[in-house]
Amino acid sequence: MSCQIVLNNIEPDALKKDDYLKRKIAIAKDVLDLDVIIIWPDSHKKNLALIQEICSNFKIRTYLWYPVLADISAFQVKPNQSVEAFNGELGHGKIGRWEKLGQVEEDFLFLCPNEEKYIMEVFKHYQKQLLEEGFDGVLLDRIRFPSPANGLETLFTCFCQSCQDKFRNDYQEDLNHYRDHIKRLFGEFKAMDIKDLSGYHTLSDMIMRNNLKKFFDFREQSIYQLTRMFADEAKQKGKIVGLNLFAPSIAPLSAQNYRLLSGICDWIKPMAYCHTAGPAGLPLEFSCFIKAILNINPALKESQLIQEISQILGSELPGKISGILENGVPENIIYQEMQRIKNFNLKESVKIYLGLDAVQIPGICHVDKRILEKYLGSVFDLNIEGMVMSWNLLKIPDENIKFVGDFLLKQ
Ligand SMILES: [Zn+2]
Repeated sequence: MSCQIVLNNIEPDALKKDDYLKRKIAIAKDVLDLDVIIIWPDSHKKNLALIQEICSNFKIRTYLWYPVLADISAFQVKPNQSVEAFNGELGHGKIGRWEKLGQVEEDFLFLCPNEEKYIMEVFKHYQKQLLEEGFDGVLLDRIRFPSPANGLETLFTCFCQSCQDKFRNDYQEDLNHYRDHIKRLFGEFKAMDIKDLSGYHTLSDMIMRNNLKKFFDFREQSIYQLTRMFADEAKQKGKIVGLNLFAPSIAPLSAQNYRLLSGICDWIKPMAYCHTAGPAGLPLEFSCFIKAILNINPALKESQLIQEISQILGSELPGKISGILENGVPENIIYQEMQRIKNFNLKESVKIYLGLDAVQIPGICHVDKRILEKYLGSVFDLNIEGMVMSWNLLKIPDENIKFVGDFLLKQ
C-alpha cells in the first residue's frame, strides 16, 4: 500500500505542531502497513526533511512525485510558453473547459514535450532533486497533453514550431495540413446526429479519425520520448520509476499510450478517481467532454448524449452533467478500466497499483466510508497488486484510513 502526500503551500512549522504529521503517518503505517509515501515537494526544505526523517523511522520508502509538463515548482509556465492548439491559440482552451481553471492552486498550463529549451530547464531541476533529496523512486506526473478539462480544442495540440519541425522530420509531411483536417472534424461534430455515436467503442474513437492517425501517433510518440528521458535518468540513479496515468478510457485523449509507456517504468498508477471534480478525475473529464460536444452541437439532447457515452464506457453515468459532478461516476467503472488494462497485455513485470481518491477537499472531492466500501468491494474481486490512496494524505480523514485498514484485515 502506498499513499501520496502533498507538501505544497504548507507553513514550515505546521506539520511539526502537536506532532501532526508523525501522528498521521503512524496511523497509516499501523492500519495499512504503508510501505511508500510519494511526496510532491515544496520550497520549504524543513518540511521535506521532517517527512523523510519520520518515514525513515517507520521504515517507509519515499518517492519523488514529479510533475513534468505542468505545475512544476521550478518553472512557472506562462500561456505563451504553453502548447499551441490547431486554431493557433496558446494555453487553456474554451470549449467545455473546467470553470475553475485558473482559480485553483495548480494552473494546468502545459509545456510542449518537444519544446527542448523549456524541457531542458525542467530536466535540470529534476536531476538536481533526484540527487539531493534521497528518494527511493519517482512518480512521473503530468506526462501528457491537456485533457478535456482544459477545453476540447486543447486535445488537438501541439502545432508549435518545434512540433512542426519534428513532424516534418519524422513523417516527411507538413503538420499544418492537419489544422484543416481538425477544423473539418469540428464541422462534423456540429452536424452530428445522436445515432452517429452508436458506432464508437471508445471516447477516443470520436476524435481519432483516419486522416488524423499520424497526428495522434505523433502526440503519443512525443509523450513517450519525453517520459523515457525522465524515466531513464531515474533508473540510472537506481530509482524505482512509476507513472501517474489517466484511466484507460481517457488516457488516449491526452496522448498516454499504456503499451508504449509500460516499456519504460516499473509500475503504473491508473487514476481511477470516480469522485474527483478536478483534472484527471473521471467526473470532471467526462463532464467537460460531454459539455464540449453539447457546446458545439446544441441540437443534441444532454440526457441522450450521456446515455450514448455511458454505453461507450460500459458504465451508467448520472443523467445530467451536474449529476456527474455532484455524485461522481459509478464505482464499478473501475472494473471496466482494469479490464482495459488487462487487454493491453502489458509485460508482467510492470505492476499496476490502482489509484483511488480517498480525500475530502470541499468543492473537489468528498470520499467517505460509503464510497470506500464500494471501491474496495470492486477492487477485491480484481485481485490487484496494490493501491495508492490518493492524492493527499493530509486531506484523507483518519476514519477513511481506518476503514480501509479494517476492510483489508477482514479479507
Ligand atoms: Zn509543440
